[in-house]
Amino acid sequence: MEINRIPVARSSMPPFEEFAAEIKSLWNTRWLSNYGEKHNQLQEKLKSYLDASFINLYSNGHQALEAAFQIFPKGSEVITTPFTYASTTQAIVHSGLIPVFCDIEPEFYTLDPLKVETLITEKTVAIAAVHVYGNLCNHDALQYLAKKHGLQLIYDAAHAFGVRKDGHGIGFFGDMIMLSFHATKVFHTFEGGALICKSAALAERTKAWAHFGMYGNEDAEIIGTNAKMNEIQAAMGLCNLRHIESALAIRRACVEHYKKRLQGIEGIHLCSPQLDVIPNGAYMPIQIDPAEFGADREATVQLLERNGISTRKYFYPLTSAFSVYRGLFKTGDTPVAEKTSAQIICLPLYTELTKDQIDTICNSLICIHCGKINTNRPL
Ligand SMILES: *Cc1c(COP(=O)(O)O)cnc(C)c1O
Repeated sequence: MEINRIPVARSSMPPFEEFAAEIKSLWNTRWLSNYGEKHNQLQEKLKSYLDASFINLYSNGHQALEAAFQIFPKGSEVITTPFTYASTTQAIVHSGLIPVFCDIEPEFYTLDPLKVETLITEKTVAIAAVHVYGNLCNHDALQYLAKKHGLQLIYDAAHAFGVRKDGHGIGFFGDMIMLSFHATKVFHTFEGGALICKSAALAERTKAWAHFGMYGNEDAEIIGTNAKMNEIQAAMGLCNLRHIESALAIRRACVEHYKKRLQGIEGIHLCSPQLDVIPNGAYMPIQIDPAEFGADREATVQLLERNGISTRKYFYPLTSAFSVYRGLFKTGDTPVAEKTSAQIICLPLYTELTKDQIDTICNSLICIHCGKINTNRPL
């Protein structure tokens, strides 16, 4: 890596001494997994921080999502978005369910509730929506549809840790809510995840699935796997959780600074703030309209790269276009998702990112827009 290269993301780390102190007791207890002290402490703290009714911790976010999808009969349909990370769709498919792709709305890139209802059939069991970049889905509309048709409302909230709406944490909205604590996320446990459930029955079942299908310690009552969070992961979570408010504040300030600098540049779409929502500053997406901006997404990404700025085409391609699914599912009619996926760029964002670095990134974008960086020159 070049010395001055700006990465797109960088894991937040607690002070090393804090982590060392946190894991010290494990050398005495020798209790390293299976719902140990660190796990249980983190579970309790996250339950209240996220406003969860019930919460279980997992080895990673993807396993938490799969835990949720296990409750449905194989072959059932799940209405979902193709504008998401591979995990959401793979969790549905790997659980023996059929993804039915629904379009997103153009402002926040979340599932468009107006397009959900026509996709509901007698085989539909759930709506699986994603709080993309921490932008919250239109929960009231999705909740209404889920209730009306007797569907489970599942959220992939991997991007939404720490987001609050109307005074509620993210765990308040939906029947089952998955969080990812992957190293690159706002809050992490190296790898890890959680599933929040509205009912005790769902919480027990999704917990048993991750413990070989055993509700207790002897008999297996359901088909299951092993997807438990271990004590080292939980210890990292306890440390990172102590620093979460300052991390979120720094991220929000970075996003504000980006927006101040990029506001009004023709051809760059920035997400608006959401009403009554406290955001988490998880990502800095910009959508490039090539005709107005003067360069398309590919050229912009490559020019930034040449200037030492890493970005991510996130989410591209749509999951419905994955080669592994070719011919398996209806790809659906999702023009907004297609357009967004072709135009989106996530800019660098992490807690050590400085205002100067943000200025460098924005100046590069402005130069590309003004043609000062020649987009026709061979790269
Ligand atoms: C990170 C992520 C996941 C998967 O979480 P892991 O903890 O990496 O397994 C799922 N969905 C979305 C939208 C993500 O960004």
